[in-house]
Amino acid sequence: MIKIAMPQKVIENHKKYYREKVLPDIQDELNKLNDSEGLNGIIAYKNFLSLCLDNWEKFAIGSVAELRVLDDQLCKQWDDLKNDKEKVSSIFLKAYDRFIYVPKKLIKQWENNVDPKDMEWCAYTYLKMLSNLQVCPYCNKNFIHPTLTEDGKVRGDLDHFFSKEKHPYLALSIYNLIPCCRYCNSSLKGKQEFNVENIISPYEVSYNDLFEFKGPDSPSEGIQIVNNDEDVLVDEYLEMFKIKERYQNNRDILEKFQQKNQEYGSAFIEQFNMNFGLGKLQISIREFWSDFYDYPLNKEDIDKNIMSKLKRDLAVDVLGHEWLKGDK
Ligand SMILES: [Zn+2]
Repeated sequence: MIKIAMPQKVIENHKKYYREKVLPDIQDELNKLNDSEGLNGIIAYKNFLSLCLDNWEKFAIGSVAELRVLDDQLCKQWDDLKNDKEKVSSIFLKAYDRFIYVPKKLIKQWENNVDPKDMEWCAYTYLKMLSNLQVCPYCNKNFIHPTLTEDGKVRGDLDHFFSKEKHPYLALSIYNLIPCCRYCNSSLKGKQEFNVENIISPYEVSYNDLFEFKGPDSPSEGIQIVNNDEDVLVDEYLEMFKIKERYQNNRDILEKFQQKNQEYGSAFIEQFNMNFGLGKLQISIREFWSDFYDYPLNKEDIDKNIMSKLKRDLAVDVLGHEWLKGDK
């Protein structure tokens, strides 16, 4: 799992959007309730909406840790709502539906290559502004960058780390919207929820340092995964997204590494260096191998291409490129 860096401009845009597009809906609903004071159920509903207004910045742009605290604090008030839970859900889920809708103006801006930070704010702009993240942070197997044209559009999904069924009031909290691929979101995670109390979100840290892909010990085995510290949360993550099973479809990468390694061992590089001279090409041996096997030399670049984690790990295990370990 890749750690996602949140650009400051995303925070600013989302805060403005939430203030202008979500708060008025909550305020309107509260105004409507003003004449109905005295009924217990409605008081609970009013109290909940007031909490949403008073803490709106935390709802909109609070970090994952802040959302956990907020969610804990709201637990009792949420239960008190009883039948009014649906009304609260409706306000936030409608706001989320608006956020994922493509405004007409955006298509023109997209075509004219307007700076993303100045585009109409919606799910597409959010993904476009996370320009460093080109791949699904959960699986690193699929691209998620958005494309928008007059007659067609496609983008990565937004997974609700705190599910919108159980925590609808966090449906439009920016740190709760994890860009990811459709396999990871709809097909595998679906409505399941992580153990959100403990498990980390891609907005907190990466799991990539905690497990490694390895080549098989015997030809009958597939690609292996080692959970270095036998961390149960890493196991939960690997299991939820079926990481080991899905990577068995990428044995061709392993086989290509093994085949190239046999054909072009260290003798090849010595011969190559003697004939052409890497110095003349102005690249180091490490850069040469990274180009030759098509893996990123820096671990910070894992988020730019699919299969990068698998390739880097196999480069250590199968090819013995130990220098990548220090840069895990
Ligand atoms: Zn994925």
